[in-house]
Amino acid sequence: MIDKININNKIYPIKLKKNVIVICLDGSQKEYFESAFKENLMPNLKKLIDQGLFLLAQSSIPSFTNPNNISIVTGQPSSVHGICGNFFFDSESQKEVMMNDPKYLRAPTIFEKLNKEGLKIACVTAKDKLQTLLGSGLNFKNKKAICFSAEKSNIASELKNGITNVNDWLQKKVPEVYSQELSEFVMAAGVKLLNEFKPDIMYLSTTDYIQHKYKPGHLYANKFYQMFDYYIGLLNSKKSSLVITADHGMKSKSKKDGSPNAIYLQDILSDKHKNDSTRVILPITDPYVVHHGALGSYATVYLKNLSNIDNIIKTIKNIEGIFEVLKKDEACHKYHLPHDRTGDIVCMSDENMAIGSSRKEHDLTNLKEPLRSHGGVFEREVPFITNFKQIKLQSDQKLYNYDAFYYAMNNAGENL
Ligand SMILES: [Zn+2]
Repeated sequence: MIDKININNKIYPIKLKKNVIVICLDGSQKEYFESAFKENLMPNLKKLIDQGLFLLAQSSIPSFTNPNNISIVTGQPSSVHGICGNFFFDSESQKEVMMNDPKYLRAPTIFEKLNKEGLKIACVTAKDKLQTLLGSGLNFKNKKAICFSAEKSNIASELKNGITNVNDWLQKKVPEVYSQELSEFVMAAGVKLLNEFKPDIMYLSTTDYIQHKYKPGHLYANKFYQMFDYYIGLLNSKKSSLVITADHGMKSKSKKDGSPNAIYLQDILSDKHKNDSTRVILPITDPYVVHHGALGSYATVYLKNLSNIDNIIKTIKNIEGIFEVLKKDEACHKYHLPHDRTGDIVCMSDENMAIGSSRKEHDLTNLKEPLRSHGGVFEREVPFITNFKQIKLQSDQKLYNYDAFYYAMNNAGENL
């Protein structure tokens, strides 16, 4: 009988002494934890760290939600799994295509592989945009897999999610999509699944609505982390191997007057390079833009012809607030991006700057608080919190958020 499995070039044990729980706490810049600790709002997490570790890891680039959630559940960056944003520009069809369909996934998830080995999988996500990708390849017929979103918990079915009547079962109504309750729903479901379904592997992924709106230490941010701590108290035990990480950090991107601090890149390029056809793609754009107005820190630019690429790069480099501009090849090599889903130029903005396309395309009317967003290298640092100490890194080895399952499972494995 095999006791180890190779999934996307990492070796995982499949005989586990503990259950494995990984939580992706969306948009959790480390300062949110520090502020909540200062107010003594996270006693359970403090206890957990006393047994384990509070490390910092790197997210994959772009530091967006979907690419990083998929990195965490495949154990690899987007060059391997193919998901590099909420959508991409398909140069063949000349269309911008949403990337939430499993057909765009190029690597199996850890869940799919382990479920085939007979392990029980539970996966709960806040927004539905991730659910189909995370549940890809799971067999819901054998009663060994559950995967659903809080947002669409009312339509979860045995056939598609491995569970039905979620709201009655949890005694919670479907929360508002823009709310703290959406994340709380995920955590409450996680506790109930742990106690009743008893999964071998559980993944909980929240939403960053609160982090987009409120800076670390804000009353509402602190309340969120206090809520999270309550559920950590119920999830953490000697029977679990637990890792808490984030998909990306979150930085302020507003001017002193509270308006968004943004470069409207398409406007600049269309104005300065009238004879070149340029198309700015912002992979942060998705149907849920109320809290960030589709302004992030990462953009990729497609050119009709490459003859003037050096001049266009020069223009972008000269824009104040741009941090890095790379040609496709360099960007894909440096940041492990999929070549065929990346534009001819990749650029990222400074810590407190965002990148937009054309000003007229960004509806900012619903953006009530000063802009906070992510997507670039400055939002790459994320917490990596474990309830165990067994992480040994070589001196030149980096820790990534997508190592979460690797360490959690190896800690739970029989050989340790
Ligand atoms: Zn996120």
